[in-house]
Amino acid sequence: MVFLAKQFEVIINKLWCKGCGLCVGVCPKKVLEISSHVKSEAARQDDCIGCHQCDNICPDFAITVKERG
Ligand code: SF4
Ligand code: SF4
Repeated sequence: MVFLAKQFEVIINKLWCKGCGLCVGVCPKKVLEISSHVKSEAARQDDCIGCHQCDNICPDFAITVKERG
C-alpha cells in the first residue's frame, strides 16, 4: 500500500488582502510571501501542510485553504 501526503491549495483573495504579512509570519512551512504588489501569495504551495494557521490569523478573511483531490 502506498501512502501519499495530502496536498493543499492556498487561495488568496487579492481584493481583500491588505499585505499585512501576518500569514507569512505564522506559516510553519514558509509557504507564503508578500509579492511586489504588496499582496500575499502562495510561493511554495506544494509545501503546505493544511494547518490553517494562515486563514485563522488573517484579519480580512482573505485566505482559503482547500485539500487538493
Ligand atoms: S494575513 Fe490576510 S491580509 Fe494579511 S497579508 Fe496575509 S492574506 Fe493578506
Ligand atoms: S495552511 Fe499552514 S502550512 Fe499551509 S499556507 Fe497556511 S499556515 Fe502555511
